[in-house]
Amino acid sequence: MKVLGIETSCDETGVAIYDTEAGLLSHCLHSQIDLHAAYGGVVPELASRDHIRRLPLLMKEVVRQAGLGLGDIDAVAYTAGPGLAGALLVGASVAESFALARGIPALPVHHLEGHLLSPLLSADPPAFPFVALLVSGGHTQLMRVRGVGDYALLGESVDDAAGEAFDKTAKLLGLGYPGGPQLAALAAQGQSGRFRLPRPMLHSGDLDFSFSGLKTAVLNVVQGADWQPAYMADLAADFQLAVVEVLCAKSIAALKKVGLKTLVVAGGVGANRCLRETLDAALARRGGRVHYPEPALCTDNGAMIAFAGAMRLAAGERGAVARAVKIRPRWPLVELAPPNMSAA
Ligand code: ATP
Ligand code: MG
Ligand code: FE
Repeated sequence: MKVLGIETSCDETGVAIYDTEAGLLSHCLHSQIDLHAAYGGVVPELASRDHIRRLPLLMKEVVRQAGLGLGDIDAVAYTAGPGLAGALLVGASVAESFALARGIPALPVHHLEGHLLSPLLSADPPAFPFVALLVSGGHTQLMRVRGVGDYALLGESVDDAAGEAFDKTAKLLGLGYPGGPQLAALAAQGQSGRFRLPRPMLHSGDLDFSFSGLKTAVLNVVQGADWQPAYMADLAADFQLAVVEVLCAKSIAALKKVGLKTLVVAGGVGANRCLRETLDAALARRGGRVHYPEPALCTDNGAMIAFAGAMRLAAGERGAVARAVKIRPRWPLVELAPPNMSAA
């Protein structure tokens, strides 16, 4: 079964084709980074308009790259939430119309389920059950995952998400947009240890996170009397280490709590090299293992949506032909049910 995946929840237009027999056949991505850079963040209306412009072209391109015709597609999976309402509506409308015109099922997919299952697309996929650390621009969550649609929330950020903390801190350090990767690149040139930054909620006794105070701590450093711009890379390294140490400690605590040794990391911050090295070392010491998505599939993409849809279809979820276009800009992941139990 060949599933077309469409992702338009934020500032990336992602389209892909996943074949339940042959795997990922093709995927194309258009990032709107240049479009929003001048504004220092995503402008929702501009995002929606650009998705409308790009989506038809990308759909043609993935079909061409897969060596298929549009008539070979058996089902469409699209991100129905969470995300920006206008941006989600573009993907949902195109997906539902395409499915209606072709008489094939359309499946609304949860964006975070896409992120969470994306490591299963790698060459050496993890087996269920595992603990998932979801670290993206909008979410920081630890989940116990027993199977597709079987998610229990173990802990989450009470304020900023990890990616958001990277982005906001990068902004106050005067780095460009999007800040996360730039802050990480700067940190690689610096040496940690010069600044004593807090490790928020490290000893809170639960699996929750807080990152907004770290950003303030960085602000206090750069506004201090002893601040020198030459320390910038060192400060970036100390900020990154503070985030990474808390993420690592809580991931280990989560694994201990549920008695598992497999950790799956998903979402954009999962591309961070310091995080990967720290988690790999910590899990190796405990005889466990960490799984990541392929680097190109860490941030938003159509492949993870096509894959999540394909997993649900393969497990017996039917999808619907000619349903109403419904999106859920706010949608807790734990509300999902396994495919065979959920209504189409
Ligand atoms: P969500 O999935 O929660 O709706 P999102 O889709 O915006 O949010 P992703 O696309 O998964 O999030 O990830 C983007 C985030 O990842 C941004 O905050 C970005 O700064 C961060 N990020 C990407 N690469 C790195 C890196 N190397 N180090 C740290 N952060 C990074
Ligand atoms: Mg994005
Ligand atoms: Fe995302």
